[in-house]
Amino acid sequence: MPDRPLLSVEQALERILATVRPLEPEQVSIEEALQRVLAEPVAADRDIPPLTNAAMDGYAVRGADVGQAPVRLQVIGEAAAGHVCAIPVVSGSAVRIMTGAPLPPGADTVVQFEHTRPAEGQVEITRAYPSGKNVRQAGEDVCAGQRVLAPGQVLRPQEIGMLAAVGRVRVSVIRRPRVAIMGTGDEIVPPGTRPGPGQIRDANSYTVAAQVRRHGGIPLPLGIARDQQALLRQGIQAALAQEADMIITSGGVSAGDFDLVKQVLAAEGEMHFWSLNMKPGRPLAFGTIGGVPLLGLPGNPVAAMISTELLARPAIRKMQGFADWPWPATTARLREPISRKDGRRHYLRVRLHPGAEGLEASLTGDQGSGVLHSLVQADGLAVIPEDVDHLPARATVQVLLLQ
Ligand code: AMP
Ligand code: MG
Repeated sequence: MPDRPLLSVEQALERILATVRPLEPEQVSIEEALQRVLAEPVAADRDIPPLTNAAMDGYAVRGADVGQAPVRLQVIGEAAAGHVCAIPVVSGSAVRIMTGAPLPPGADTVVQFEHTRPAEGQVEITRAYPSGKNVRQAGEDVCAGQRVLAPGQVLRPQEIGMLAAVGRVRVSVIRRPRVAIMGTGDEIVPPGTRPGPGQIRDANSYTVAAQVRRHGGIPLPLGIARDQQALLRQGIQAALAQEADMIITSGGVSAGDFDLVKQVLAAEGEMHFWSLNMKPGRPLAFGTIGGVPLLGLPGNPVAAMISTELLARPAIRKMQGFADWPWPATTARLREPISRKDGRRHYLRVRLHPGAEGLEASLTGDQGSGVLHSLVQADGLAVIPEDVDHLPARATVQVLLLQ
C-alpha cells in the first residue's frame, strides 16, 4: 500500500463536510415536500379554526341554561359542518349541531348527544354542564399572521398538513443533491448480463444509488468505467456535464489500482488518498474535481456500503440543509467474545435478538469486506472502538442500525 495519511472516520468526515454546503432552494408541491428542509418562513393566512365551532356532535346551548340538570330545552334548528347557522339560541332553546359546525349566535356550550335524551318534542339535558364545554375557539390552533414554520425545519407529515391548512400548495425547500455514481473495474459487468470468466456483477452502483435515494439525494447512474485512464476520465466528465453535486466512484482505490485513479484524479482536480483507521473500508479517495466533491469508495461491497453510510450520507444530508445526520443506534450485549489486535475501528455485522436483559448481538458470519451476504443478514453494525482489543461475551456495544 502506498504511503497514505491514516485518518479516523471523524477526521475524514470533517474534511469531507468542509467541502459541501446547503444547496439552493427550489419550489415544490407539498406532495413532494416530505423529508425536505424548508427554505422560507411560513405564516398562517387566517385563523384556524376560522370561527368558534363545536368539538362534539350534540346540542349548542347557552351555558347559563345547563348549569343544573336535568333541564328541557326547545330544539329550534340544526347546524351542520360547512354551513353557518344564523338561528339565535335564546334562553331555553338548543340547536342540534355537528362537530366542526360554527356555533349559532347566542350559544357558548355544546352538550354531547350522550348526555341528552328526547323528551316530548324537546331535548332533555341529563347532566349539568360547565359553560364553554366542547367548544373550539376561533384561532385556537393558529391565528392569522402567526409564524407556523421556520426555515431549516424538516417537513414531516404534520408540517405538510400545516402547509395545507394555511393554504400553501407550493413551498420553497432546499433542493436535493444530484449524485453521480460510477463503478470501476475491468471485471465488473452490469447486473443484467451473464458474467464471463473472471467477471462479477456490479453490486456497488446499486447499493450506493439506493443509499443516495434513501438519504434524499438523486442518483445519476453512470455505469462502469474500465480500468483505463481515458475511460475513467470520460466518466468523470459525464458526471460534470450532468451537473452532479457530488461524484461517488467505487473500486480502483486499493493498492492495485491506486496509480491509475490517482493519475486521473490528480490531472483533473485535487485529490487525496486516505487510509481510514476502520474495518471494513480502509482505502478511500476524496477531493474535488471541477469544484465537485468526489468520494472514491473501496471496491469491496461491504466496505463500499459502510463507507457511503459513514461518509457520503452526512454530506448528502448537509447539502439538503439538514442540521444533523444521526445514524440511529442502540446498545446490545455481545453473544460471543471478540478479540483483535489491529487498533482499527471495527464495524461488525450483527443480528439483534431480544434477550432477558435487553438486546443481544450475534455476528452474522464471515466479516470479510467483500462478503455482502453477511450484511444482508445483519440488523446492525456493532462498533468496536480503536483502543479495544478484547470484549468478553455479554459486553455492551453500540450498534448502528441498518434499516
Ligand atoms: P478494487 O478496490 O477495485 O481493488 O476492488 C476490490 C474488490 O471489490 C475486487 O474484488 C472487486 O472485484 C470488487 N468490486 C469492485 N467494484 C465492484 C462493484 N461495483 N461491485 C461488486 N464488487 C466490486
Ligand atoms: Mg478494481
